[in-house]
Formats: sequence, structure tokens, C-alpha cells
Amino acid sequence: MNDTGHRTGGTRYTNPVRTTGTRRPGRNRPAPWRHAVLGTALLALATGPAAATETRAGTPDPGPADNVILLVGDGMGDAEITAARNYSVGAAGRLAMDTLDTEGRRTTFSVDERGRPVYVTDSAAGATAWATGRRTVNGRVSKTPDTNRPLATLLEKAHHQGYATGSVTTASVADATPAALTSHVTDRSCKGPADMAACPADTRTAGGAGSIVEQTVAARPDVLLGGGADHFAQTVTDGPHRGRTVLDQARATGYQVVRDQAELTAARLDRPVLGLFAPDQVPVEWTGTPAAPGGTTPRRCARHNPARPAGTPTLAESTRAALDLLTARRDRSRESGKGFFLQVEGASIDDRAHEADPCGQIGETVAFDRAVATALAYAGQHPRTLVIVTADHGHATQVLPEDARPAGLSTTLVTDEGGRMQLGYATAMPGEMQDHTGAPVPVAAQGPLAHRVLGVRENTDLFGTVRAALGLR
Ligand SMILES: [Zn+2]
Repeated sequence: MNDTGHRTGGTRYTNPVRTTGTRRPGRNRPAPWRHAVLGTALLALATGPAAATETRAGTPDPGPADNVILLVGDGMGDAEITAARNYSVGAAGRLAMDTLDTEGRRTTFSVDERGRPVYVTDSAAGATAWATGRRTVNGRVSKTPDTNRPLATLLEKAHHQGYATGSVTTASVADATPAALTSHVTDRSCKGPADMAACPADTRTAGGAGSIVEQTVAARPDVLLGGGADHFAQTVTDGPHRGRTVLDQARATGYQVVRDQAELTAARLDRPVLGLFAPDQVPVEWTGTPAAPGGTTPRRCARHNPARPAGTPTLAESTRAALDLLTARRDRSRESGKGFFLQVEGASIDDRAHEADPCGQIGETVAFDRAVATALAYAGQHPRTLVIVTADHGHATQVLPEDARPAGLSTTLVTDEGGRMQLGYATAMPGEMQDHTGAPVPVAAQGPLAHRVLGVRENTDLFGTVRAALGLR
């Protein structure tokens, strides 16, 4: 998620995955003879088997699920989950995300503009894979890798077919992972009307649909909760809302705007809700000392963050509120028989791993896990709910022997059960941003069609699973 355009510790981070490709434009250029040989295989890579199946399976039959809750831990690979499990519930304990009925793995790779595999994804391409059933290039949001055309998303399909829809995140709601459900832009950096430098084809003056926040308001999810107030404060430069802020645009289209947990709890159930709880990212829950060259003395994490304003909803509280609002919306339109699609993102697991900040990362994983518990509790009361828990990609964390002397950054944490856990970060030189990794990630599920995550699945397959669960055309 937070790979571009956000500030962390005073540094502006540009996604190394993407800049690597930019620095070496000829690196992936194939010899001409390879085009014909690779053509068919590459089309399959970009499209994914799920998309082909889904094209054939466009059926109006209602799906076996009333509701789908998709929870995504950004940058939450197996090592990140293990670190959080060890620290908070013990190596033999189980997080909520460990308790779902089925679990498999998803590939995570993206493609370049010619459809060749790129083995480490960013969050824009990662989310596009499940949001649209297509792989795209790193940095792009729900548009094709070659022709840069918009791809219909799960949220759009659900909305148009009468389902209530929602998106909850700890990032800006304009960040890549939530953006992939509600917008289509050439580059993830095009968050607000003033941020369109990398998206000339998407500007309204060029006949495009505008920035991520403008498109997100137009997509009109019933619930949209996270950070990003700064992006909504920007002024729309063209189109029917020209001269007004994006927040004005949102209010004009019926949104009630809430700024903290008290206002969220008090929100009316009969109108869409836009919750903006921070200027950009929502501050993380835990703090501690970053990993360092040569390691650290054993230490504990602080389960608080002085920079997190009182009244900021936790991800679990936002998830609970979203479920209440979506259930009310569903009950109002009960004659349609349609439930809801909700995506919940724990965004700052990724952000803190980029910074080699193990306590921030573990705290966000634990906070995400509480949101998972909230979703599972809801599913316990509403059995026709498919709950899916996964990640978009793994990250830099390694769980190391206590006496290891790793070359990169490391730290030793004293866990709640009294163990000593050394964590290493060595995907970048000290002082540089840590990076994503390319391993498959866990995908767990419970409820109707939960068996469809078993085995090793393509990252695009989630699209087909959610689509089939809700009977989306
Ligand atoms: Zn990232």
C-alpha cells in the first residue's frame, strides 16, 4: 500500500520495485523471436485462469453467500504473521486468522507491459489481481498492463447488482489497495486532483475519470473508512464539481463525513458514510525501537503510540461499524435479497516493515487480527458470510536464530511468553527502505466456497471466488 507518496520518518518513499524497472528500461526487453513463442503463455499470465473461467461462467444465478468480507494484511507474509503470533499469543498459540476452516496459498507476482512475469509485486498490482481478475504492471490501479484500459472491479460489480459495498483501511482511502476497488488510474500516485502528473490519460481534461478520490466518491461505496483527509481537501479542477473540494463532492452526493470513533458510532444508518480519521495514514497502534545494524539488546514493544490521537477508531472498531452500516443497508433493501461486499485492509504492516520497525509492524498485525476476529464473530451470527483473510505480498521480515549475526538490520524482542525472538531485515542496505518479497502468501477462508482457497492458487483466483460466492455477473 504505502509505497509511494507518503512520508515516514521524514523520508519520502518511492517504491523500489517500480523504480528499479524505471532505471533499467531495456532490462526486460525480449529478443524479437521470443514474442511469438511467449505470446500465448503471456496472455495467460496477464489474464489468469480464473478470469477465463469467469468469462464462461457469467451466470445470473445468486451465489451461495449473502455477504463477503475480504480482509487483507498488506505485506503480511508468513514471516510477518509468525512474528506477530510469537510475540502476542506464543509460538503454540493461535491468532484469529489461524482459525479459519481452510487455508491455501496464493501466488503474488505481477506482469510488465508486455505480459512477462515480474516476480515481486507492489500493492497496486497486487490488489488489481483480486479486484479485477487480471494481473497488471506494478504501480497501476485496475487498468490493463498493455493498453491501459479500465477493468471492472468486484466492488463495482457488487454495487451495480444491488449489493451494499464497503472499504475499510488504515491507509488513506486513496491508497493503492482500497483504490483498486473504486478507481482506475495509470499510476497509484494520482490520489487527488493535484496529484495527476503520472496519469495524463486519466485527467478529466483528457477525457479520463479523474483522480483516485474523485473516482472513489463516484463509485459510491456505502461505507468508506480510513485516512486521507488531505486528498479529499484538494480542489476538483474539471467536470461538474469543478472549483469545489472532493469532500464537497462527497457531501453533495449524499455522504455523511465522520472524523473519529464517536462520530462514526453516531453516524446515521440510512446514508453512506465517509470516515476520514487522519490526514493521510491512520497512526499505528504500537511503537518501539527500529531494527539496527548488529542488532539490539532484547527489548519489549510499547502497546501504545503517543502520536495516535484519542478517539481514533481501531481497525476492529471501523470493521464493526462498517458491518453495522452494511447490515442496515442490506436490511433496508431486503426485497433485493442482496447482502454486501466489504474489504478491510491492515495497511501499515507493510509500511512498518518497509521501515524495519518490528514493534509497529507486529502491533498492526495484531490490530488487523482483531478485525479478523470481528469479521469471524459476524460470520458466526450470519452463516451465509464468506470470510477470506490474505495478503497482497510478503515482506522483508525474517525470524532468525537467537545467536545469528545477520548482515542486515536486526533486533531481538522479548515476547509475551518470555522467549527471545530475533527478527532480521535484509532486503536493502542499512538506511534504505526495506522491500517486498515474492513468495506466495497464505489465504484462509470460512463460509460458502471456502474450499476454493485450498492448494496453491493464482493471485487472480480470488476475483473468481468472490464473484461466484455472490453470483456476480
Ligand atoms: Zn509496500
